Amino acid sequence: MIPAGFEYHVPSSVEDTIRLLSEYEDAKVLAGGHSLLPMMKLRFAEPAHLVDINGLTELKGIRRDGDTICIGAMTSENALIDSVLLQEHCPVVVDAAKLIADPQVRNRGTIGGDIAHGDPGNDHPAVMLALDAEFTIQGPEGIRTKSASEFFLGTYWTDLAEDELLTEIRVPVCQQGTGHGFHKFKRKTGDFATAASPVVIKLDGDVCRDIRIALTNVAPMAIRVETAEDLLRGQVISDALIEQAIEQVKSACDPAEDLRGDVEYKTHMAGEMARRSIDDALARAKR
Ligand SMILES: Cc1cc2nc3c(=O)[nH]c(=O)nc-3n(C[C@H](O)[C@H](O)[C@H](O)COP(=O)(O)OP(=O)(O)OC[C@H]3O[C@@H](n4cnc5c(N)ncnc54)[C@H](O)[C@@H]3O)c2cc1C
Repeated sequence: MIPAGFEYHVPSSVEDTIRLLSEYEDAKVLAGGHSLLPMMKLRFAEPAHLVDINGLTELKGIRRDGDTICIGAMTSENALIDSVLLQEHCPVVVDAAKLIADPQVRNRGTIGGDIAHGDPGNDHPAVMLALDAEFTIQGPEGIRTKSASEFFLGTYWTDLAEDELLTEIRVPVCQQGTGHGFHKFKRKTGDFATAASPVVIKLDGDVCRDIRIALTNVAPMAIRVETAEDLLRGQVISDALIEQAIEQVKSACDPAEDLRGDVEYKTHMAGEMARRSIDDALARAKR
């Protein structure tokens, strides 16, 4: 299908992008285009103006700033996968990126677009919740930051205003005693998750000092399961405790029935993905 007509703009800087977004009421940022263009072809989105930010090199790349890794919003999935910094210091982002879509999508799709789109089927939102990430957002009023836990508001709904740009994603460097897990169940290569679960655990000896459990595609948006986390935090994690936590994970699920499965199946798979991710995170935290 062919999208409705639109005017195409190529900004020269972040400031120029924000000027264009402020000037034109019905404008949308074009990043990798792998979510926006399908929506435009299906006429679910009909922006009158597209502001293509692919030329903004200042939005690309990954750097370390003390205990934080800063990822430019226009960094592609493949660049995340290839990043030695992320492989060594925040591997859950790499593990998630490797399972996103197919090589073509990963070549152009960006972490910023994946997060800004607010699709409950996208994987980075849940990973960002599990990591307690922070987002840098720039708009006509200046620069502000927002935690991942306050950013996702609903299906295709985030805290971003129409004239704002997500510029940077900030994730913590994985410290000694921290481990992660990321399991995703999908029908076939290239499909979105039936259910996925990123988990980050911090151990103090054998005691769980902190844990964050998140879920993809089993609720109207990416969610954290704090009731499950509360059961494990402060405890020596045993199989029996994990079983109780998985029951909480399942109760938090509210999936939509579709071709990927019915509610019961998706809920069961979400519990299974969380269980496997907790097991991996524990094993890695003990290394
Ligand atoms: C076949 C297929 C399978 C896929 N499977 C998965 C999967 O399993 N997991 C997964 O996570 N994703 C999946 N995706 C989605 C893919 O990761 C997209 O690339 C991603 O959702 C959007 O990133 P993008 O860079 O392509 O953004 P675009 O499509 O260009 O933009 C998406 C939306 O975000 C806005 N936007 C983009 N960047 C910014 C920014 N910096 N600031 C403000 N707003 C911005 C745009 O205006 C638009 O509304 C799949 C896509 C396809 C086509």
